[in-house]
Amino acid sequence: MARTRKKNYYRLTLQWIIVTLLAYMLVRPFVDRSYVADFEAYCPFGGLQALSSFLANNSLACSMTTTQIAMGLALLAGVFLFSKLFCSYICPIGTFTEWLSKQGKRFKMNIVISGIADRLLRLLKYALLFVTFYYSVSSSELFCKTFDPYYAVFSGFSSDVVMSYAVMALLLAIPGSFFVRQFWCKYICPLSAASNIFSFGFVFLGIVALYAVLTAGFGLSIGWIWLLGALCLAGVILETTRLKFGIFPVVKVTRNADTCTSCRLCDKACPMAIKISDIPKVQHIDCHLCGDCVTSCPEPETLQFSKRRINWLPAAATVALVALGLAFASVTDIPTISQKWGDAEQMENAAVYRQSGIKSVKCFGSSMSFANHMRELPGVLGVEAFVSDNSVKIYYDPAVTNETAIKEFIFTPVSRVIAAPAQNISRVAMAEFAVDKFFDPSDAGLLAIKASQQPGILAFETMFGEPVHTLVYFDSTLVSADEISRIIEEKKVKWEVDGDPREATTGFKVASVEPKRALNLKSYLEKMYEPVVMTFNGFENFDSTRTAGVLLPFPAAADPSLNDMPWYLLSHISNNRGVVKFEVIPSDTGFVLGLVYIPEMTGRDEIIRQLNEPELKVHLSDGSTQTFRNPYKF
Ligand code: SF4
Ligand code: SF4
Repeated sequence: MARTRKKNYYRLTLQWIIVTLLAYMLVRPFVDRSYVADFEAYCPFGGLQALSSFLANNSLACSMTTTQIAMGLALLAGVFLFSKLFCSYICPIGTFTEWLSKQGKRFKMNIVISGIADRLLRLLKYALLFVTFYYSVSSSELFCKTFDPYYAVFSGFSSDVVMSYAVMALLLAIPGSFFVRQFWCKYICPLSAASNIFSFGFVFLGIVALYAVLTAGFGLSIGWIWLLGALCLAGVILETTRLKFGIFPVVKVTRNADTCTSCRLCDKACPMAIKISDIPKVQHIDCHLCGDCVTSCPEPETLQFSKRRINWLPAAATVALVALGLAFASVTDIPTISQKWGDAEQMENAAVYRQSGIKSVKCFGSSMSFANHMRELPGVLGVEAFVSDNSVKIYYDPAVTNETAIKEFIFTPVSRVIAAPAQNISRVAMAEFAVDKFFDPSDAGLLAIKASQQPGILAFETMFGEPVHTLVYFDSTLVSADEISRIIEEKKVKWEVDGDPREATTGFKVASVEPKRALNLKSYLEKMYEPVVMTFNGFENFDSTRTAGVLLPFPAAADPSLNDMPWYLLSHISNNRGVVKFEVIPSDTGFVLGLVYIPEMTGRDEIIRQLNEPELKVHLSDGSTQTFRNPYKF
């Protein structure tokens, strides 16, 4: 009678939890349009690359956080103690390719590669490991995103993915795993190669220690690429010649030969095609302690983990390591970049200022730009930037500078026009708001969105202060200073980008409001709008006796949504050789378009006809010509 194979519920439960979480992340954007799934949020392989990048360059990959690094360290600890638990219990590629292999087996199309072919194929994952780490550490960007089949599929082939690499990886992973048991894990996966190097514990630690002694102890200049190369080479040699690990991982599957009936159910159950039924303990390099063999064995206490009845241990250890990793991440702060240019003595006596809410610090490049900017302030000795919470640490010499000077140096004033004034308005009201929790230009961006949703708010400017001061210009017939305070303090900001709803939370708090004297409309327009004026077509060749002027109301010039359109109109009208000057003039009744022309070459009616043409013919800076829809009517 055929025996029913028992299921490994510990492993199945964890795998289904991961699949359910991924399904949730895929589905949620359909009901919550503001949700952006981060499929790399807990990736230990990305974490290992990020940690290497940080150790080699003092910088982290942009999208990498302490959480991923903590997951990488948890994986390392897991490999030393228990084997490749991530591969077995968590990795979505492992779960999917294992299911594919089972289908191949069902259709009797599954083969096991052995001998020299098996050993040669194992080289591939070390080559990919070397290339991945080389490019990730060199560029401080995650190279694995370019080809990772999991990331490619779940991110919908995002812009980080290189299509040809990802398609090649998918072609290897899907048919490969259908025909060959765990093809991806055994032969291609660079994380599997890294895990195997860790499992050669003493060799791994020995190479790292030797590198540390030679570089830090003896001061030799040996590039990190030699360490990477040595680790990969050691992994290749040990894996292809021995195919087994030694003392590490500490926990291993053991077989009691006295009670074993040689039924070989364990061999059939093993997803890695390891022959368990005739060895006393499993030391095969491919074993990831999944426990399927232990569960499938019909003889009590024949297959165990290190001769103990602890079938729950690998799954429990996986959960514990993830929990420890998350706890470690919550109390550890690894900077995206750490740049120190003060000497040892200066750094020892340096004071530290931490500023949060720098939302413009959002990746490696912007962190480096920030550090380079701070180098220009005398007395600043170093910068650490933390992309994960948009904060920075500034190291400075307190004898040369202070916190206020640093804060002012970081601050970027913003001037933003929100809406055009109504046509009947003659004065623009002003009020100055001192706003807490408002510092970064992106805060000003969120304030602009809030302001654009309230009729009557015309513009604002931010000025450095403790807290930052925001001067708001508004139409007092449509909105009051109190209403503006309420709008500034609203927690949620909602807007749309190409029909996609977006949402953000702000914590702005109005500390004080100071009404200011209203400005007349002309002064307001002069203050908030860039002048648009230019002479052309040989203006200087005509004295005033040969020219005439046209003045036309031009209220639409104040519409901020039309951006550069006044300049496009200027370019368009310059096609009339008789027009020699174009100026958008602020006045007490709004903007006026002023044109100077040569009556012997053109006339007022011709000019107005051209200003009302449906398309503007615009000369671009590269010498080409382009047409744009004309939004204006005169
Ligand atoms: S030997 Fe056992 S624990 Fe190891 S991979 Fe195979 S089935 Fe899993
Ligand atoms: S260890 Fe268990 S499953 Fe494997 S051959 Fe022996 S009795 Fe069968």
